[in-house]
Amino acid sequence: MKDLLGREVKDLSGELWWGIERSKINWYPTIDYKKCIGCGICFITCAGKKVFDWDVEKNRPIVARPKNCMVGCTTCFVLCPNNAISFPSYDYLKDLIVKHDIVRKAKETIKKAIEKQKNQ
Ligand code: SF4
Ligand code: SF4
Repeated sequence: MKDLLGREVKDLSGELWWGIERSKINWYPTIDYKKCIGCGICFITCAGKKVFDWDVEKNRPIVARPKNCMVGCTTCFVLCPNNAISFPSYDYLKDLIVKHDIVRKAKETIKKAIEKQKNQ
């Protein structure tokens, strides 16, 4: 499947994030259509994950693949010129980090990489 710009679109909702099924993580943009001016910056910019499709009839973006969104990314929110995009609170992610022991997992990953480098 391809989007309006001819870019290949994939469903990434089956991937894991730190061992958690992506489909179970509620991190994705919400568009306030009262504020959206249909500029297309969000749709064009989200080139890696392709969370958005373009509604040609209404000339505005749609959050078509919310679970494709990179957990923790807020690029579309930051770039939206009319503040039409929102995300859950950062605390939602901090809670996930605690609940799923991600600090320990991250430290282990770094430790293993350093040991591997030393043994090369
Ligand atoms: S960047 Fe903001 S204003 Fe522009 S299309 Fe996306 S949501 Fe609408
Ligand atoms: S936060 Fe990043 S990955 Fe998620 S929809 Fe916006 S630009 Fe795409």
